[in-house]
Amino acid sequence: MRILVTGGAGYVGSHVVKILGEKGYEVLTYDNLSTGNRWAVLYGSLVVADLSDRGTLRGVFKDFRPDVVMHFAASIVASESVREPLKYYRNNTVNSINLLEVVQESNVDKFIFSSTAAVYGIPEKIPITEEESIKPINPYGRSKAFVERILEDISKAGHFRYVSLRYFNAAGAEPEGRIGEMHDPETHLIALILKTAKGGREGIKIFGTDYPTPDGTCIRDYIHVDDLAEAHLLALQYLLDAGESDIFNCGYGHGYSVREVVSMAWKVTGIDFVSEETGGRQGDPPALVADSSKIRQRLYWNPRYDNLEYIIRTAWEWEKRL
Ligand code: UDP
Repeated sequence: MRILVTGGAGYVGSHVVKILGEKGYEVLTYDNLSTGNRWAVLYGSLVVADLSDRGTLRGVFKDFRPDVVMHFAASIVASESVREPLKYYRNNTVNSINLLEVVQESNVDKFIFSSTAAVYGIPEKIPITEEESIKPINPYGRSKAFVERILEDISKAGHFRYVSLRYFNAAGAEPEGRIGEMHDPETHLIALILKTAKGGREGIKIFGTDYPTPDGTCIRDYIHVDDLAEAHLLALQYLLDAGESDIFNCGYGHGYSVREVVSMAWKVTGIDFVSEETGGRQGDPPALVADSSKIRQRLYWNPRYDNLEYIIRTAWEWEKRL
């Protein structure tokens, strides 16, 4: 069974490549290394190319003949997308169309898409079910929501089946410490906190303290990256078992505020790093927490690392190695 993974050198993609490799799947990573890293690809081969390069993409499909495509490659920083919307529509939407055209030409009929809770914008209800309306509040969320619509249309038009996984906040690292989160520049809360604890930064900024949440700071559903990777394996099995196209939230179903994450990091690291309250960041919804009953019931997802302390500890071990 051959799986083509776009963005397999990135944070979530590399953890998925690892478990695919461990399970004996043949994996090819297609990644332009703009944010990913060669060393993060622990299994299979790596083709360094961009999804806009259809010639290379076609050649790879012809030689590798994937049975399934998993599509991770994307730009992912919501605040950047507000400043640079076209980058997001090109990298996330246009490049997905390029990929999907080659997928269709090659008669590949199974596709797994990295989507995001950002498609919900500011949800009416917490926890968020998959039925919540799609009203993204930043170009990042819109760029992904467009792809979801395209996938739905393609699936209705033919034999193509897909699973879209709407990630909440991926965090942590594999306990073996070979791969983990590494973005440049880093913008994600837990990674930034740990860089601060390590001494690389002055202090951590708490973005906004007057949100309509119990302690005034934003709430997110932090999910360990290995549990998220496992969800992809289950989605793959579901498609191989002839499952219909579908969309699933990937989160634990409860969230933590920025202040709670900072407190847990003080405890895990034992370092009394500085935190500073500032104004809110553009494009940030107050709370994003998954209702994950659908993925638990239909894909039998049974997460193993639903523990903020463990998430931060694995991320801390990783950060200390960097
Ligand atoms: N956040 C923060 N300080 C930082 C980075 C993030 O207070 O230096 C907050 C951010 O406003 C959001 C939460 O932490 O409410 C998670 O942000 P992150 O960028 O990790 O993920 P996002 O939810 O934006 O995808």
